[in-house]
Amino acid sequence: MNRPVRIINMTDSGRTLSVSINSKKFTTPTRAVIHTELDKFAQLVTRYQKQISSVEPPPSEIQETVLDFTKGSLQALVSRNEEVPRRIASLKKRNKNGSNRLKICNPRLTTQTETVNINEIRMLALLQIEAHCLDMITIPDPSFTNPSADLLDAALAQARKLADDHGMDRIPIMPLFDLKTEPDDLELRLKRVLDEGHTFIGFRYRMKKFASMERVRQILADKEVWVHLTGVFKNHSSRPIKPQIHIMPLYSFDSVSSYKYFGGPRKSSSEALEFPIVPERRDPGVRVYLEHMTAHIPIGIIDPLANERRFDSNALGFLTKDIHHDLCGDALNCDCFICAGRTIDQFYETYGIENGSPSLPRLRLHQNIHELYASHSEFQAAQKRLTNESYLEYLREKPVVQQYLKNEREFIISSRLDSFT
Ligand SMILES: [Zn+2]
Repeated sequence: MNRPVRIINMTDSGRTLSVSINSKKFTTPTRAVIHTELDKFAQLVTRYQKQISSVEPPPSEIQETVLDFTKGSLQALVSRNEEVPRRIASLKKRNKNGSNRLKICNPRLTTQTETVNINEIRMLALLQIEAHCLDMITIPDPSFTNPSADLLDAALAQARKLADDHGMDRIPIMPLFDLKTEPDDLELRLKRVLDEGHTFIGFRYRMKKFASMERVRQILADKEVWVHLTGVFKNHSSRPIKPQIHIMPLYSFDSVSSYKYFGGPRKSSSEALEFPIVPERRDPGVRVYLEHMTAHIPIGIIDPLANERRFDSNALGFLTKDIHHDLCGDALNCDCFICAGRTIDQFYETYGIENGSPSLPRLRLHQNIHELYASHSEFQAAQKRLTNESYLEYLREKPVVQQYLKNEREFIISSRLDSFT
């Protein structure tokens, strides 16, 4: 039997894999799309259907549907009959935009409690099985604070049995770990799932968990295992132009998806100033993000679009219009249907204005969709480079990342940079 995951090449930093599941094939590193991004794309196509005849859908090979669970809604899965069908319907609806992509679910736990019990895990597995629209079953680690991996073992065994009992003995089970897990506990878990023969392993991104990310790299970099990372802020941190998604392959994450905001689409920065979004602020990651966003809005805004950042693949970063001019000149470095034939000024003029007034939501919709295409094709360029050089070498040629590597002293790749020079 062909191996589902094959290492094409491995370097000092970063690797490229060939992954094949259910006749769906892709090469890594790559960018996955989440369902809200596909919803935005559908929204944009509806808007333009009269002007453009056909638009290629976002080229990502992996599609992730995020389902949020509080402790209450987890308990409801077990105790209320209407809850599982409701979640299955939601999963199918969110999956509807998929074409031939590999489809995975991300059951995201928003619960403050540290442990998910085995009955709740069973229902998380069951709803994914009964939905009949996924290529694998994702099982979150039931307790990232528990020093033993026993609960994890029980959860994965439970999901496996349930899938087998439903005649789905070939569907893979993907354990999903939280990068909040302390490195030693994470190592124990990773060794356990490797011993059990798991070929697909997922992680939930958390900010600045460098020690855990480095441990992932140490353990998984030379293994024929597809490593997926979910929920990465595209450009968070005090350096707004940092291309977080594109840094992650340094840690042997093979595919990366972006963060889905709680409570629907994220608001524009000016809206965030005027109408604090209470549910989102409960999430520490989003609170940091909003504080960062508001810190960058000057008092007495003259050009509300001046701080808006567009992803540029040559610079590999999120650039304001002014920074784009400094680093890249007028050219857009992208042939997606949003950018093709335009200069940077034309991009902002075309998409930043609606009914004669500046419009942040309109600009961001276009920036976000453009980024799906541009990031994907940039990852494809990186794949080619990884066949004979390291990911770090590739990153070091990118102007934004050069600056970032120089300045972020606490970031572990800086020390790695030293060791390679
Ligand atoms: Zn573009």
